[in-house]
Amino acid sequence: MRAALAGFLAFELLAAGFLVTAGRPDRPATTAPQPRRDATRSKADSVEREARERKRAVAAVLDVRARAIRTRDRNAFAGTLDPTQVAFVTRQVAMFDAIRKVPLASWRYDLSDDRDFTQESSYLRKYRGEAWAPRAVLRYQLEGFDDAPTAAEQFFTFVRRDGRWLTASDDDFPDVSDRQTARDLWDFGPVEVATGARSLVLGHPGHAALLRDIARQTDAAVPRVTAVWGTAWARRAVVVVPRTQRELAAILGDSTDLSKIAAVAVAELPGDATGSHPVGNRVIVNPDNFRRLGTNGRRVVLTHEVTHVASRDSSGADVPTWLVEGLADYVGYLGTGLSAKAICQELAVEVRNGRRPTALPTDSDFSGRNDRLAQAYEGAWLAVRMIADRIGERGLVAFYRAVGAASGKDRLREPLAASLHLTPQAFTTAWRSYVVEQLA
Ligand SMILES: [Zn+2]
Repeated sequence: MRAALAGFLAFELLAAGFLVTAGRPDRPATTAPQPRRDATRSKADSVEREARERKRAVAAVLDVRARAIRTRDRNAFAGTLDPTQVAFVTRQVAMFDAIRKVPLASWRYDLSDDRDFTQESSYLRKYRGEAWAPRAVLRYQLEGFDDAPTAAEQFFTFVRRDGRWLTASDDDFPDVSDRQTARDLWDFGPVEVATGARSLVLGHPGHAALLRDIARQTDAAVPRVTAVWGTAWARRAVVVVPRTQRELAAILGDSTDLSKIAAVAVAELPGDATGSHPVGNRVIVNPDNFRRLGTNGRRVVLTHEVTHVASRDSSGADVPTWLVEGLADYVGYLGTGLSAKAICQELAVEVRNGRRPTALPTDSDFSGRNDRLAQAYEGAWLAVRMIADRIGERGLVAFYRAVGAASGKDRLREPLAASLHLTPQAFTTAWRSYVVEQLA
């Protein structure tokens, strides 16, 4: 069991919330006619009118596209594409076919009023005619799993051909980091679906056994997480299984080092409404590492990720990472029968060699680039287990929720005082002794 576990101990990336700025709905156009004082004004009016007209026409193209995807109307979908862009049309139709089995409850686009990128832009001159590349946001829901739509930014280029607006590209800005179309599993090939009692697993053909195994393991993880966290969460999870680590990186839109990571939990944290809940919770597996895990390793990884999904509401961006990851590992390892020394192999070696940790792992210690990433997870697991040893699992969850609800730089102080009667300094001292006692 110990050998089977070696090599997967650092298996996860911090839940990366991404903030999406949504396109705002159109303001109603003013109906009062404006007096035309001079030619300049008249020209400005006409530019304004054309921009409004262009936006209306392009929004209609996106509406047709969205409806075609929802109703599986391939001809209508293809009819929104510029036939002269052969490679783009081929990729788009492949995407349309790829998404066929994905259970969608909704799919629509919101268009922004972004006027910066038209045919005058150096990026769009190649179209030799009217062109526009506004910011758009795709909003979609997975049936039975997403309570609210999740958002994905899209940067389509629209061109006008014989008076009709058509979609010509979605990657005209290769060197502009904030104008990259979000990619999902269906951009990388057909999607196969495995459905469990409490799980939806999306992957590619040829991996049916792996997808079924993940569905089974995720179904088993849900009650384990509920046993600790309680019932106040959706109690279901979506797992995405890319074909390669490269595909995983493209879906995450992230150049982080993923080589030590077996899975990631992500969600969108809508930044526009106060009190809004994270949406689009997804567990995304790193297939290169996940496939190498045995049954126990897969169990720990998926339970860990599902813990993130369950606790996301209380895991705001300011909750210390050691607490977020420590809780996920605490639940992940629960019931596996593994000892502290088996779980904390790297840290145990250091402690035995007299290298004792002096401070709790910092947020940046959980970076995929950290050579001591395993030690960060192990220290975090020990910190959370120490809390559970002292005040029980219900106390641990109450403490976690209190930290999630607190604000400010010193957000640990009050919850630590209320739950454990310790100052942050005394907590660190207690943890340092606990690490030595458990691992020496
Ligand atoms: Zn984690």
